Amino acid sequence: MSRRFAGKAAIVTGAAGGIGRATALRLASEGAQVFAVDLKEADLAETATMAYGSSFTTMLADVADRTAPERIVAAAMQAFGRLDFLINNAGIGGRGGSVTDTGDDGWDRIIDINLSAVFRMSRAALPHLPRPGGKIVHISSVFGMVGFPEGPGYAASKAAVAQLTRQMTADFGAQGININAIAPGVIDTPMTHRAINEDAWYQEAMIKNTPMGVGQPDDIAGVAAFLCSEDARYIAGQVIPVDGGWLGTRYWPRD
Ligand code: NAP
Repeated sequence: MSRRFAGKAAIVTGAAGGIGRATALRLASEGAQVFAVDLKEADLAETATMAYGSSFTTMLADVADRTAPERIVAAAMQAFGRLDFLINNAGIGGRGGSVTDTGDDGWDRIIDINLSAVFRMSRAALPHLPRPGGKIVHISSVFGMVGFPEGPGYAASKAAVAQLTRQMTADFGAQGININAIAPGVIDTPMTHRAINEDAWYQEAMIKNTPMGVGQPDDIAGVAAFLCSEDARYIAGQVIPVDGGWLGTRYWPRD
């Protein structure tokens, strides 16, 4: 693995598993100092163990706590003395019905974690990011790009993150900060593992009609690393589907 991120420092939220873990490990393996944040103590410690030999620091925090983003960024600055990349990955899923099935508490919780925390993490990090050279990568979703049954809070939060990506680029792109988002399709993580393996409807709606089948966390981590690299220095304000062809096709194989 190249050391293209030697001397750089990154915050990755939701790094205890899935896409966040893979991204934190990928950045670390390429030389970045990584500040990994999550709620899940044991799993986050396991991520740190997997990063053995890298400069890797962990912090337990709920990113939806209004005070957490400032504390996270301050702690990362204290740990590394700099901050180059912010990966806004922490999120929760939200199937289980339509708008009429969605209570206020469920709606508020998903917006707090999937959207408001992204806004607050970005606000806290932006003053510290180098100009040029700072990078923010949000993790949106294909469900923020097309209508799909169930999960209105999830869909709305991810669409809002996509728009925040474009809006923030209008404010900070000229300063040399690249802000982009990834819209994953079906990726096998703790969030989706049960649905991928046990939910026949999900298998029909998401897996059967994905030309390239189920993706892995490393498929997203590699793109996040690319977006943090100088190879992506002219990509700004984009929401990049990484979905094995699900969005771009009406794929329905004959059995
Ligand atoms: P995951 O395996 O559940 O990992 C997400 C991590 O974030 C978990 O460790 C989770 O902890 C943590 N987290 C949740 N809320 C948090 C909070 N308030 N503060 C701190 N950490 C928190 O899910 P994933 O599939 O890797 O998802 C990562 C991102 O990709 C999410 O934003 C998700 O919406 C997005 N995404 C995933 C897919 C997919 O197919 N997997 C597709 C499109 C988009 P808990 O487990 O305790 O919640």
